[in-house]
Amino acid sequence: NQTAARELVERHIATIPDFPEPGIVFRDLTPVFADGPAFHTLSESLTAPFAGEFDVLAGVEARGFLLAAAASALCGAGVLPVRKAGKLPREVLREEYALEYGTAALEVHVDALPAGSRVLIVDDVLATGGTVGAAARLVQRAGWHVAGISVAVELDDLGGRAALVEEFGDEFRVFSLLQY
Ligand code: AMP
Repeated sequence: NQTAARELVERHIATIPDFPEPGIVFRDLTPVFADGPAFHTLSESLTAPFAGEFDVLAGVEARGFLLAAAASALCGAGVLPVRKAGKLPREVLREEYALEYGTAALEVHVDALPAGSRVLIVDDVLATGGTVGAAARLVQRAGWHVAGISVAVELDDLGGRAALVEEFGDEFRVFSLLQY
């Protein structure tokens, strides 16, 4: 049940004020990854709301890789690695997105999945929504379908959910296990 899952995961999240710079409250999931039952529960919780609605889990480099791979082993879906620019060896699609200072870019192999594949995008933290928004645009440009976005932690004040609704409307649902 989701309340128990929430409590177990929340107990293992470390909160670090002023990292990586003053004013940022960093939510660190590495203690969740280090605890078998908490990691297992989180991996299950991210996919349960979308049961039967996706074929593949897209994990955003790097912490999303851990979540997508663990959830994949539990539910049997494949994994699409959404990588930082310049890592993938074959033809890619690239999406740039805004960081606090400057921009970053994510890439996928253009032929990674069959047309129409239903892709659930997973990541650790939803902040401004720039990262998962770029991943969603990649999925759509490649001819696949965004089944949803699922994150462990949503930072309410940073407006990520509103930004995603503004860009994508109600094309897909956004799930977060914990909100701060
Ligand atoms: P954003 O693109 O603004 O939604 O930022 C999300 C990405 O940055 C995620 O991949 C997170 O890993 C990371 N991130 C942003 N803010 C935080 C934070 N306060 N604590 C932990 N990770 C964060």
